[in-house]
Amino acid sequence: MAANQRGVTVWFTGLSGAGKTTIRMAVEEKLRAQNYALEVLDGDIVRENLTKGLGFSKEDRDENIRRIGFVSHLLTRNGVIVLVSAISPYRNIRDEVRQKIGDFVEIFVNAPLAVCEDRDVKGLYKRARAGEIKQFTGIDDPYEAPLNPDIECRTDLETLEESTEKVLAGLKSLGYLNE
Ligand code: ADP
Repeated sequence: MAANQRGVTVWFTGLSGAGKTTIRMAVEEKLRAQNYALEVLDGDIVRENLTKGLGFSKEDRDENIRRIGFVSHLLTRNGVIVLVSAISPYRNIRDEVRQKIGDFVEIFVNAPLAVCEDRDVKGLYKRARAGEIKQFTGIDDPYEAPLNPDIECRTDLETLEESTEKVLAGLKSLGYLNE
C-alpha cells in the first residue's frame, strides 16, 4: 500500500457510453503503478453477482446503488480506494450514498446523448430505439445529472488522457493522493 493512503470512493456516473469504464480503467492503471490499494466495482459486473436479479425499475436501480454503496463504504473505511463505475441515474440515491460514505468523490462523465448513442459501444442504444430494451437510461428512463460534481469529464471534448489527468489531479487536490 502507498504510504499514508486514505480510503475514498471514486464514483463515476453518466450515460451508457459516456466513458465511465474507459476512464476508470486508465485511472486504475495509474494508481496501481503507484501501489495504491484499490478495488473496482463495475456496474455491469456487479449486476451479475452482488445485485443479480435486480431489474431497471426505479426501486431496483436504487437497490443496486445502495448495495454498491454498502460495499464501497466497508472498503473505504478500511483505507481502500474504491473505483465505482455505474450509470447511477438518480440523484437522490447518489446523494444518500455520498452522505453515508463521507469520503466520496463524484465524477460526472458527461457526453451528450447523441454522442453516446453514436458511439453505441455495446449496441444497446440501437436495441433500445428498436424497443427491444425497455427503461433504458437516456431513451425511456431519465438521467439526473449531478448538480455539483466534484469533477466533470466532458468526454466529447477531452481526450482520454485529459479526462484521466483531471480525475487524478482532482483526487490529489482533495487530499486523497500523495503529491
Ligand atoms: P461507459 O462505461 O460509460 O458505458 P465506455 O467507457 O464503455 O462507457 O465507452 C466509452 C467510449 O467512448 C469508448 O469507446 C471510448 O473509447 C470513447 N471515448 C472517447 N473519448 C473519450 C474520453 N475522453 N474518455 C473516455 N472515453 C472516451
